[in-house]
Amino acid sequence: MEYVVPAPDIASVAVADSRARFPIHRIYCVGRNYAAHAREMGADDREPPFFFSKPADAIVPDGASIPYPSATTNLHHEIELVAAIGTEGADIPVAQALDHVYGYAVGVDLTRRDLQLAAREKGRPWDMSKGFDNAAPCAPIHPAAAVGHPNSGAIWIKVNGETKQDSDISKLIWSVSETIAHLSGLVRLMPGDLIYTGTPEGVGPLVAGDEIHGHVHGLGDLHFSLR
Ligand code: MN
Repeated sequence: MEYVVPAPDIASVAVADSRARFPIHRIYCVGRNYAAHAREMGADDREPPFFFSKPADAIVPDGASIPYPSATTNLHHEIELVAAIGTEGADIPVAQALDHVYGYAVGVDLTRRDLQLAAREKGRPWDMSKGFDNAAPCAPIHPAAAVGHPNSGAIWIKVNGETKQDSDISKLIWSVSETIAHLSGLVRLMPGDLIYTGTPEGVGPLVAGDEIHGHVHGLGDLHFSLR
């Protein structure tokens, strides 16, 4: 194929214990999927799930040092369980949803909170608060074939060794299966899609120099730093 400008590389994320990588097609995120976080953001805690996106190339590998992003003075961490889609499907029933999952990872939904709150107030899109460069740190994916489909277990994040968010993925309002069922009614899910499933309470600011350490039980750890 001949292109008129350089074609982009395929964004990808590492797979645990594998030389082959997971190619990223799209990155979807669930808003307000833990009741205590919905409340801390001033929302009702039983709304149906809603979704936003990040560009595929917003992905950041484990161990990276990333620059503090432009256009914000209130960058927030959101520790999240990430589900990686392995097989295509639309209108997927809840009972079959997990058959479409290749694996799971620890991710952080970096958020320019000041831009998000300004957008929310004016009824404007969230894209620039969520979909900026380096906004999606993600640890290596653990195949479901190896780790199963986690539905409980600790999820936490430490900043410079201090615990900031500490919850359990059993507290997801919409489970991974339910999230896939909802999202696949809106778009046809494809191999390579990542779903950041939402964050528990305790979100807060990051500054240059911070060392971030995220964890989800059974899925290892995610480390990155800001400069
Ligand atoms: Mn989030």
